Amino acid sequence: MPFVITDPCIGTKDSACVDVCPVDCIHPRKDEPEFEAATMLYIHPEECIDCGACVPACPVTAIYDSHDTTPANQRDLIPANDIYRVGDPDAVARAEAIVKAHIDAHPDLMAIDPKERVSAHA
Ligand code: SF4
Ligand code: SF4
Repeated sequence: MPFVITDPCIGTKDSACVDVCPVDCIHPRKDEPEFEAATMLYIHPEECIDCGACVPACPVTAIYDSHDTTPANQRDLIPANDIYRVGDPDAVARAEAIVKAHIDAHPDLMAIDPKERVSAHA
């Protein structure tokens, strides 16, 4: 079961997780052209080896270790992680549309600083 990035990454996007991932399955990286426009980062579900290294690296606790542990109000972002592919503009657009819909549906969450946002996920 792949790890999942959730909305505290929005507004943080510091790539600390990318730096520790042993299989380079978190995108976009800072050196990829999609990085500037990306609202958040995404974990490729088939490439993730479930090592757990990214979780303690994330300064805002945005990463969950499975679909099951992803809080209910973040599960709409699971398909965004599943879909996103660097180099595929259609996949990027579809994933980003999911994130945009999440933002629009949760103005309450988005008003909270990313560091505090995870506590609102419970
Ligand atoms: S769990 Fe490991 S392989 Fe999966 S995204 Fe995190 S660091 Fe990468
Ligand atoms: S470490 Fe956390 S906030 Fe930083 S890019 Fe990765 S998921 Fe996003």
